[in-house]
Amino acid sequence: EAEYATALDVFDAAASAGPDEPFIYYFDKTLTFAEVDRAATALAATLVAEGFSPGDRLAVYVQNNPSFIIGLLAAWRAGGIAVAVNPMNKQRELTYILGDSGATALLTLDDLYVDVAEPVIATGNTSVRTVITTSPLDFQTRDDPRLFEGVARRRSPGTVDLVEIIENHDGTPLPAPELSADDTAVLTYTSGTTGEPKGAMNTHGNLAFNAQTYRDWTGLKPGEGVLGIAPLFHITGLVGHVMLAMLARTPLTLAHRFAPDVTLDAIREHRPVFTVAAITAFNALSAAPGATPDDFASLRILYSGGAPIAPAMGDRLEKVFGAYIHNIYGLTETSSPSHGVPLGVRAPVDPASGALSVGVPVFNTVVRVIDENGDDVPVGEIGEFATSGPQVVKGYWNKPEKTAESLPGGELRTGDVGFMDADGWFYLVDRKKDMINASGYKVWPREVEDVLYTHPAVREAAVIGVPDEYRGETVKAYVSLRDDATATPEELVAFCKEQMAAYKYPREVEIVGELPKTVTGKILRRELRQKQ
Ligand code: ATP
Repeated sequence: EAEYATALDVFDAAASAGPDEPFIYYFDKTLTFAEVDRAATALAATLVAEGFSPGDRLAVYVQNNPSFIIGLLAAWRAGGIAVAVNPMNKQRELTYILGDSGATALLTLDDLYVDVAEPVIATGNTSVRTVITTSPLDFQTRDDPRLFEGVARRRSPGTVDLVEIIENHDGTPLPAPELSADDTAVLTYTSGTTGEPKGAMNTHGNLAFNAQTYRDWTGLKPGEGVLGIAPLFHITGLVGHVMLAMLARTPLTLAHRFAPDVTLDAIREHRPVFTVAAITAFNALSAAPGATPDDFASLRILYSGGAPIAPAMGDRLEKVFGAYIHNIYGLTETSSPSHGVPLGVRAPVDPASGALSVGVPVFNTVVRVIDENGDDVPVGEIGEFATSGPQVVKGYWNKPEKTAESLPGGELRTGDVGFMDADGWFYLVDRKKDMINASGYKVWPREVEDVLYTHPAVREAAVIGVPDEYRGETVKAYVSLRDDATATPEELVAFCKEQMAAYKYPREVEIVGELPKTVTGKILRRELRQKQ
């Protein structure tokens, strides 16, 4: 029932059915499917001329720029694998990913090259032979000081310019690569919220399948636009924006980076219908200066994934956006969703913990809730989610032991703990590694955070365990406040104490300006733990 065997087939189908239809809106420029196709073919031809062979890796280290998509397609056209690199990465992280993936080619932005990549490559310790650069100023002509102040084209010796590659290409198509559903399409590095990054091998079959999941789940139709606010290097942006836009043959609105005011302008201009992003992005967008309900009226199909939605925040944002924000759940290793709330359905809330359901498994996906021995626990009981389906990765790049540990028999041990209710709805309690053990009582940070979010002054909350002589660990909350609100730590402690068992409520609340986050908007409890 897979419509397409490979992710490249998904693109090729769109490019032949609607070559002149818009595929990417990037500020004031529109790139059609045919234009992106031509650019990708030109880049692939250059890579091949430089010795890039089937199976080789092209690292793509750019922001939400059209070059991300051109790079992805070029790697596939040349029969290779794209490595999606977080543009926030600094030298240490880039060194790790280039080394781990063994990339021979790098596509990056000229400023990232000068500031970060060049010194890494100059060490001579990477396998990178070819560097292609582009500028954030390419592919658009708008001079927006909010984004591009201080940005200039910076050509460096030894690099090839992407725009020149595209302009100089004679249009000759390349021979079709030999790719199949089982071949790795992308290495996506887990964000490392819980450990050393691992390169998940998302296959062509994984991407093609979950593009279908997004399209069928959202009912998105050709021409109904996608707002690209999740970072493209992350699996949710890659599948829920790029692959979905290809499969649904619909334009994708991109902005260099997520900034609420700039994104608001893009929404006003292109009127996208769908987006998926972490709830923190919706929260930030809801506070964009000058935003009115009319601005958000086109956004009718909304999904939030990657981080829990506190029910109180979901309710507030529904009022701002005038549309219900559906929960969707998955991991890098499930190529974005394994679960979701079907369109038009409101997720139930677990009466005991107050948690919002993450939905039901998506098509052809089986999720077991298991105990330490890998056996199923009874309905309603807590265990680890173990997922099998066409979107589950085949393993981690060059890490057979990690693969065997996390994917025994091809079933993914997610590290997420939760339960399924009698109607088949799944609830995530929390991540196994984030559990707090206070005098032997298990405290799940998310439940405490959900209560904090019901306080009108709280903008964001993160709960961790801190060492405690008497209890082993005790509960501490970090909180940021809404701009127009005030609250004292004592007040917030008392607020929680009133609503929770004695072992659960935070004994300490610290008020901070901003909570540490990944670029995908996930709050980094790990970083807060390191501060102790
Ligand atoms: P690493 O694996 O290196 O720690 P990461 O966990 O941030 O990095 P991702 O694959 O981006 O990597 O995140 C997947 C995790 O995000 C899930 O395991 C789950 O804990 C959390 N998550 C995803 N969707 C939801 C959701 N709808 N509600 C709550 N949590 C979610």
